[in-house]
Amino acid sequence: MTKRSLGLSDGLYRYLLAHSLREPDALRRLREETAAHEYARMQIAPEQGQFMAWLVETLGVRRAIEVGVFTGYSAAWVALAMPADGKLIACDISKEWTDVGRRYWREAGIEHKIDLRLAAAQDTLLTLVEQGEAGTFDFAFIDADKTNYEPYYELCLELLRPGGVIAVDNVLWGGSVADGAVNDADTRAIRRFNEKLHQDARVSISLIPIADGLTLARKR
Ligand code: CA
Repeated sequence: MTKRSLGLSDGLYRYLLAHSLREPDALRRLREETAAHEYARMQIAPEQGQFMAWLVETLGVRRAIEVGVFTGYSAAWVALAMPADGKLIACDISKEWTDVGRRYWREAGIEHKIDLRLAAAQDTLLTLVEQGEAGTFDFAFIDADKTNYEPYYELCLELLRPGGVIAVDNVLWGGSVADGAVNDADTRAIRRFNEKLHQDARVSISLIPIADGLTLARKR
């Protein structure tokens, strides 16, 4: 929806990047290559990637899930922040898009940490539950088809250990969530999801207005 944080002036956004972004060269080139893509808006902002890496490092994440890989930019930030034996289960349905990511993952030396599963994410997550992996993950990032956010969230919550964190992307949806004139299926799904999380006593939450809005939910 948006490739940069909402609500900042151009000048302030440039300042923020100039004074905080530490983007590895391979990731910068991956971001620039993706910017030419017709679905470029699906890529997260660089300040969000760095924030997620900071979170992964702070939480000591060794086992992570990503729902919605696209061209692999967010997966790269997460994998870079994990230790050498860290594992990211990356769920997507597009070989074409994830092939772009693979080239840069290899270049950044993190390909071995990323276990790409090309299938419907719900099937991949259900299989993990069936294989007895509930309660074993430290972190999950949900950034895929908005109308399925709820089942993705429920499955990720089951797979997370207590104290683990789910980050959910696009929860402000370009501002549409607060615009009564917008009522398409994606916007309605995100509104419903935000209302659900607000009431969900199983997690502690914070909605961070970074990029297109990122909700952090910590499993109690
Ligand atoms: Ca997104």
